[in-house]
Amino acid sequence: MSIQLRGHHLLCLLGFRGMGYSEPFAKNMLEVYEQLWQEPSTLVTIVRGPDDLCGSFPCDQPNHCDSQNVLERDSFIRNHLGLEVGESYPWQQILDQVKSNVQPQHIPEWCATCPWLSYGVCEEGVGRIASGEGLLSPASF
Ligand code: SF4
Repeated sequence: MSIQLRGHHLLCLLGFRGMGYSEPFAKNMLEVYEQLWQEPSTLVTIVRGPDDLCGSFPCDQPNHCDSQNVLERDSFIRNHLGLEVGESYPWQQILDQVKSNVQPQHIPEWCATCPWLSYGVCEEGVGRIASGEGLLSPASF
């Protein structure tokens, strides 16, 4: 069994520090993060549109999971990382692709409309992968 993730969430996970759109959303994202942190060989299947994180998006908030600009961000990031929809990759392979192809300064450029951008955690998360530090331990959230 693999975790289903859309393109931009591959980068959102790098900056995850326990926050989220709601408590259930953050709890689900933490479970996914902990699995990937503990088992980097976990298979991730790349999907188009809503994924295993979107599944916990709160129904009482404006939904952006199918927005065109979010789908375009997914596609751009997938292509940049050389990942195909419907294919499964070990999480470590995705991290290796991030390390080779993504720099912190890409985040403000690619995620200009994201409400989480100003926290700076995604740039920090990408920087950790680029420098070989790896994912931050969830125990430090
Ligand atoms: S800025 Fe937003 S879309 Fe970009 S990686 Fe962070 S949380 Fe994801």
